[in-house]
Amino acid sequence: MNVAGEPSFRESVDLMFRRATALMDLSPGLEEKIRVCNSTYTVRFGVRLRGKIETFTGYRSVHSEHMEPVKGGIRYALSVHQDEVEALAALMTYKCALVETPFGGSKGGLCIDPRAWDEHELEQITRRFAYELIKRDLIHPAQNVPAPDMGTGEREMAWIADQYARMNTTDINAKACVTGKPPHAGGIQGRVEATGRGVQYALREFFRHKEDKAAARLSGDLDGKRIVVQGLGNVGYHAAKFLSEEDGAKIIAVAERDGAIVNDAGIAIEELRQWMMRNQGSVKGFPGGTYMEDGAAALELDCDILIPAAMEGVIHKGNAANIKAPLIIEAANGPVTFGADEILRKKGCLIIPDMYANAGGVTVSYFEWVKNLSHIRFGRMQRRAEEARSRLLVEELERLSSDKGLGWTLAEDFKERFLTGSDELALVRSGLDDTMRTAYQSMREVWHGRNDVQDLRVAAYIVAISRVAQTYRSKGL
Ligand code: NAD
Repeated sequence: MNVAGEPSFRESVDLMFRRATALMDLSPGLEEKIRVCNSTYTVRFGVRLRGKIETFTGYRSVHSEHMEPVKGGIRYALSVHQDEVEALAALMTYKCALVETPFGGSKGGLCIDPRAWDEHELEQITRRFAYELIKRDLIHPAQNVPAPDMGTGEREMAWIADQYARMNTTDINAKACVTGKPPHAGGIQGRVEATGRGVQYALREFFRHKEDKAAARLSGDLDGKRIVVQGLGNVGYHAAKFLSEEDGAKIIAVAERDGAIVNDAGIAIEELRQWMMRNQGSVKGFPGGTYMEDGAAALELDCDILIPAAMEGVIHKGNAANIKAPLIIEAANGPVTFGADEILRKKGCLIIPDMYANAGGVTVSYFEWVKNLSHIRFGRMQRRAEEARSRLLVEELERLSSDKGLGWTLAEDFKERFLTGSDELALVRSGLDDTMRTAYQSMREVWHGRNDVQDLRVAAYIVAISRVAQTYRSKGL
């Protein structure tokens, strides 16, 4: 997706890093230590498939071990290469610091088109890739904990967890070697939706601040806001679904691999997703909107909020000037190149940066890892105790009302909600909401509190880098 004259993804991340460190008081040595990628392991392995040996190339990059384990997804795509994996690993370091999950940054990738192989073949390939990483401790509950990313999901994470358990039969914490597993295999409720849910919570938090909305020439709340989404995969689908079904936003266009669907009255996201599942991922022919062959052109449509949720580098020097959205929330990693970022800022477009916007995934992964290490479901100890205390209060109020003849009645739906203790999903959502609000406020303080900081991306980098620097300093570096 590189446009001529643009830096690579990793260079783009470095340039953004340096834009922030230029405003910070770090020693050059420490700055360099934080910026560089510690190591990248490349593996080529063979798997016998369809009667012959196929060779695959995979990577696991560790950007920073200031905290361990290191954490970051595994991506399956033909476009995977070392530069991309290292850029994504660096973003993981900053993301984890920004949302205060106690991890260093890592990322993995396998050069593969997952749609070219059937389920059994993908399992063989995944298990072999996992084997190569596990035997070098590049998958390990205390050292390196992968998660899903583009092209991977619960299924692949379950295979990886099982492979680790087979190779480490006495490790009682084996399940914590990877997150994003299905709930029946040691996963956590709410992980699949977490990144999209985080995008929703990030936007809700942004819309709570009048001055911030004004900076994007927006007002009011999310109700009725016109949104364009690129990529209806895990992240884009959940974000679009929640924003339209729960917040009243209108998804006026969805851009996908093979074109875009446009409907000014709002697209029924669940119907489009079902359509795509029935049609090998294609949006073409969907009856709930008009088809546009040039999917990327949908990014340039007139709207209030643009959500790139597919891949990096899609908003570049070549199209940035045509973007009309006053607010972009980077649900994907690195969708805006360094060059495009400059053009957009000059135009007055406000960007909620990737390292914050899509941090919902790693946040809930953190909860899953904690759950695996504690060997107990969240809410199991306190849920019924919480319900018993609420019941005590309701019964006392009802007794007082009847004893004193006050005639109070508590509405049945209020009683039902009040008397329901928090289960795992409710606790996960509460923890995620708190994380997204707190992280936004820490960026916002820097953004509004310093005259030399003009945008949220620089603010996010400053918060994240300061925290990483603090950890290094306290280790005596
Ligand atoms: P996914 O594979 O589930 O979905 C990606 C979607 O984008 C697919 O529907 C695909 O068809 C579409 N797509 C691919 N290329 C496109 C193009 N050129 N134009 C339009 N659409 C295109 O992946 P995902 O997990 O949703 O990840 C998407 C982005 O979010 C990536 O940048 C990833 O790094 C980032 N991210 C994902 C997670 C997570 O938890 N899955 C967490 C943080 C960040």
